Formats: sequence, C-alpha cells, structure tokens
Amino acid sequence: MTKENTKVKVAFFDFASCEGCQLTIVDALQTHLSLLDVVEIVQFREAMTEKGEDYLIAFVEGSCNRKSDEERLFKIREQAALVVALGACAHTGGVNALKNIQPSLQETREYVYGDKADWYEVYPTRPISAVIDVDAFIPGCPIDRGEFVKVVKNVLLGKRPGIPDYPVCVECKLKENVCLLLEGKPCLGPISRAGCGAICPTYGDGCEGCRGIIPHPNENAMKDVLDEAGLTLNEIMARFTMYNAYQEDQIETAEKTI
Ligand code: SF4
Ligand code: SF4
Ligand code: SF4
Repeated sequence: MTKENTKVKVAFFDFASCEGCQLTIVDALQTHLSLLDVVEIVQFREAMTEKGEDYLIAFVEGSCNRKSDEERLFKIREQAALVVALGACAHTGGVNALKNIQPSLQETREYVYGDKADWYEVYPTRPISAVIDVDAFIPGCPIDRGEFVKVVKNVLLGKRPGIPDYPVCVECKLKENVCLLLEGKPCLGPISRAGCGAICPTYGDGCEGCRGIIPHPNENAMKDVLDEAGLTLNEIMARFTMYNAYQEDQIETAEKTI
C-alpha cells in the first residue's frame, strides 16, 4: 500500500523584484529542512523547473507593474486558498514604486529602456494587495528567514500570522542602543514597522522603513525631527519614499482631492 501524500502544496511566484526574498527562502530551507516534511513545493522558478498548478498556498514576491501582472495575480488568487505577500515589493510596492513619484512615467521608461521603451508595457507600481486580497504579509527587504519559517508554521496550523504594528524604536530600546537621532543621524524608527529586531540602527545605520509604516504614524513630527537632524526637504522625502513611495503618493493624491 502506498503512503498517502498529506503534505500541503505550496508555490512561489515572482513579479517585479530582485528575487532576493526567494533567495532568502532557498537559504532558509537549508537550515529548516524539516519544513519539507510538511509542505510540498510544486512551483518555484528560482529553485526548480517543475510547474505544478495544484497549490493551496501561494507566496508572491514582487509588485504589480502592468496589466498582464494583474491577470496572473487573479489566476493565482483563484487557485490558492491562501496568498502570502513576500517582501517589501509585494507588501508595500517597495523600491519599484519610486517610479510612481517621478515627474513622468514615459521619461522614466525611456531613461531605463532607452529607444526600446515602447517595447515594455509598464504602469505605476502597486503592492499586490491593491490588486487581489492577501491573507498574510512577510515584510522586509529582504524578508527575515526566521519570520518566514514562523509564518509558514502559523498558516499550516490554520492561524493568521500577524505582523507587529509597533515601531522599530521599541526593539531598538530593548537592545539598549544609543539613539542615532541623538547623534544627528537620520532614522525612520519611530514610524517604521518593527519585527526586524532593529537590525539597521543596531549596526549604526538609520532605519529606512523597509517593513512599511506603522498604522497612524505621526509623519509630521518625524519630518520635524529629521529637519532638526539637518536633512533637507528632498533628503527627508527620499528617506520617506525609499520603500513607501506608493503609500506617500496615495496620501498626497488623497490630500489633493479633499
Ligand atoms: S523586497 Fe527587496 S529583496 Fe525582496 S524582492 Fe523586493 S527588492 Fe528584492
Ligand atoms: S536609533 Fe532609530 S530606531 Fe533606535 S531609538 Fe533612535 S529613532 Fe528609534
Ligand atoms: S531597521 Fe528599518 S530598514 Fe532596517 S530592516 Fe528594520 S525596518 Fe528595515
């Protein structure tokens, strides 16, 4: 008698991204091989050639940048019982959304693709939750290996994995770091979503908000603090928009329509 395969079938998909989050997963699987006792990967372009379509959980890396991305996302949503956004590009739009705040999408396209610009169908970047319903998010650029494993365990147990809604400063204080702002260095810790263990400030680099912005951030107070740290308005906005240009653009558009 053959043993019944009770493993949960999962698939990984990539859209506009650097594929760094998928590489992090390949790396995480080296140290968490036991995950493969309970899940069966049926599609993962980064790591295998097979393309199974009978998956229950879909992990989606990358942002939506064109009409054909939407069609692919709808198909994934139709098949998967659970969709998990993988990394900043899928979660917030990430660095890809920087193009949304350039003066002209066409000029940006020509800057990137030169005289072949018209070969490429591109529209403003969107996080995948702007196109389909998403059940869980794994933030960060790239994602954290430990958080990925934790999310997989949660979804397998039927739990909806939450993400911290408090700021990076909380984790930074728990590490007893000297605040970078006191040294005049810029840091978005007060408004950025925690969960990374405040890794950047711990090693002397200001947070750039790669895990997204917390709910109800006091952005004006944050801008004042960065202004006091000596940043120009352009430098402040560059920091705000590095990973969250889509959200900043949405806020600005909403304010214009009030
Ligand atoms: S979130 Fe960062 S590491 Fe992950 S795919 Fe996007 S750019 Fe790459
Ligand atoms: S260094 Fe950054 S994250 Fe740490 S306490 Fe200061 S502002 Fe917050
Ligand atoms: S400190 Fe900020 S930029 Fe660094 S990993 Fe955490 S959220 Fe991302």
